[in-house]
Amino acid sequence: MPKFTVAICGGGVGGLACAVALSRYPDIEVNVYEAASKFAEVGAGVGIWPRAWKIVQALGLDRELAEVAVVSPDHHPKLSFNFRKGDQPEGHTFYQLYTPGGLVTIHRPSFQRILLRHLSPSSRTHTGKRLVSYSQPAQGSSHSPITLHFEDGSTAACDVLVGADGVKSATRATLVDELARAASSAGRRDEAEALHRAAQPRWSGICAYRTTIPADALRARVPGHKVLKEPMAYFGQDAQVTAYPLLHGDIINVAAFRARYDLEGTTMRGPWVVDTTKDELAADFSGWEPEVQAMFQCVSKLSRWAIHTTERLPTFVSGRVALVGDSAHAAVPFQGAGAGQAIEDAYLLATLLGHSKTTLSTLTRALKIYDEVRRPYAQLVAETSRECGMLFTFNYPGFSSRDFGEGSDADKLRTIAETIRRKWSWAWDTTLDGDVQRAVQWLEAS
Ligand SMILES: Cc1cc2nc3c(=O)[nH]c(=O)nc-3n(C[C@H](O)[C@H](O)[C@H](O)COP(=O)(O)OP(=O)(O)OC[C@H]3O[C@@H](n4cnc5c(N)ncnc54)[C@H](O)[C@@H]3O)c2cc1C
Repeated sequence: MPKFTVAICGGGVGGLACAVALSRYPDIEVNVYEAASKFAEVGAGVGIWPRAWKIVQALGLDRELAEVAVVSPDHHPKLSFNFRKGDQPEGHTFYQLYTPGGLVTIHRPSFQRILLRHLSPSSRTHTGKRLVSYSQPAQGSSHSPITLHFEDGSTAACDVLVGADGVKSATRATLVDELARAASSAGRRDEAEALHRAAQPRWSGICAYRTTIPADALRARVPGHKVLKEPMAYFGQDAQVTAYPLLHGDIINVAAFRARYDLEGTTMRGPWVVDTTKDELAADFSGWEPEVQAMFQCVSKLSRWAIHTTERLPTFVSGRVALVGDSAHAAVPFQGAGAGQAIEDAYLLATLLGHSKTTLSTLTRALKIYDEVRRPYAQLVAETSRECGMLFTFNYPGFSSRDFGEGSDADKLRTIAETIRRKWSWAWDTTLDGDVQRAVQWLEAS
């Protein structure tokens, strides 16, 4: 007889990492509900920094992930990115970002397969189950189940619901509605309105062209192209290109971002993800240096994503429902940190749920601790990602190309690079350990 049941809505990195982390506790029954008809991650890359890698190790995923990674994950200083000014006919490298352990880059479908392989036999996965909303009994009725309502008309019951359903999260929408109704009935109208606004994702003003290209095709064009061996970040006014080798160097992951900060927070019309052509990409980046153009010429399949984020929420929990990953704090991807942050949420939440002090009657307490310990850090990382994006695209106050004067200003570029390094250093210089200890002590003291 399990001590309680957990339903996880969403089988992306956050949801599956949560299921793997909960697999360490045989007295918790886990069901993962995924909207898609099968588990199929986008065929791109994802980078994991040492802070998140330490959790990957704690979950016992490191050996299998290391087998499919390009960089060997250890503590030695590694070249994480060459920073290059690319929005001109002749680009130039102005900084090399060396960091302890480097950035471990993994093909997303491989990551997903490994996570699925590590689920305990008692965890069940259900595909084709798109959550529409949930209803939970009034606070205090800790023994009545939460009901999940799916698009196909079916329902399911659980004691705890973890919303891991990404930036468009149906769990977040219901949770925020619950909080807004409570605020409204207590006469706090402004708070209720702010909460309603927070239910909807907001467009960041940024679009990302995403693709992978065969390394052999690029090698045939430019035999010594740096990205065949090293990760690259090309900077430009209102745009940025990140590219790095994947799958032992057989393919190159390319993400090209176009930023319109004047449109941040507006509504993006039309679908968020569309297939497009390399001609559109080439036109959007015309005038960029030849080594960027060479990558674009190797593109065969390309999609354009409108990057959406979430408003800063006042809480990630309501009663026995908690949000993790993008559903709680979707950010622009300029620190390569969203998946790592989802893994951190999952690990901390699972540690609290699995603790012997947490029972059906004390679940809300455990979730409250998760929220109070995790939320400030996750929201800070999201804000730092926004700032890094502005630095990468020369939109940070005082750091626009217009401030460069004649030609490129080496000192200014170096200052930008060092500012990015300082803002980003949490990802390799810190760990989640302190927060886990603090949360567990808090739980044990309560
Ligand atoms: C271009 C780009 C590059 C990035 N690079 C990096 C990187 O290098 N490193 C990094 O750490 N992060 C990176 N990120 C961010 C990272 O991809 C996300 O933060 C991460 O995938 C979030 O994981 P998640 O599980 O919270 O959400 P998702 O990955 O969005 O997963 C949500 C899951 O829930 C399912 N779902 C949705 N709605 C429902 C519903 N109603 N019911 C049930 N299931 C539902 C979806 O089908 C999906 O499987 C990048 C993002 C972008 C756009």
